[in-house]
Amino acid sequence: MQNISEIEELVRLISKLPGLGPKSAKRIVLKLINTRNELMKPMANSLAEVYRNVSRCKACGTLKSNSTGCNNCEVNDKKFNKICVVENIADQWSIENSSIYQGYYHILGGTLSSSPNQRKEDLLISSLVDRVKNDSIEEVIIATSATVEGQTTAHYIKDSLKDTKVKVSRLAQGLPVGGEIESLDDGTLFSAFKNRS
Ligand SMILES: [Zn+2]
Repeated sequence: MQNISEIEELVRLISKLPGLGPKSAKRIVLKLINTRNELMKPMANSLAEVYRNVSRCKACGTLKSNSTGCNNCEVNDKKFNKICVVENIADQWSIENSSIYQGYYHILGGTLSSSPNQRKEDLLISSLVDRVKNDSIEEVIIATSATVEGQTTAHYIKDSLKDTKVKVSRLAQGLPVGGEIESLDDGTLFSAFKNRS
């Protein structure tokens, strides 16, 4: 690789991306170098823009543009009476793509691990309770994954919502054990939503 430290650094960073190893990282870097103006420059600018202008919404946990606000919980034209609670943004994107569900999302940003008191306050659960109270929500659909952590988190959320009297449902048994929402096909997601209980 000619010992050019800038290139080595870029290869090192790209190979940390999901699904890429050093070999594909090198191919990507070469492609970028060969398309300096068409690809590398706009990509560098776009990365900088996303870094500057996109962040997680503090209320609902999804991604928002810092200039236009959160289109899930702040500037949504439609009014919904449901909130679907997921572990991460990839789960939200899968459910959105499948068009199975119409409603708000709430992204926890993880699960409670089996160790007690771990980062409960980071999971945006108190802000979920606030949203349920303030936005006249009638149903909270918990779509955490079918892992031990996912189940523990679901119980904790249900418990936290007890006083609000909101209907709380959980995606159906159709979920394979250990199944993460992100990796489910549309058919499985559809039946999991339809048969929630
Ligand atoms: Zn939001």
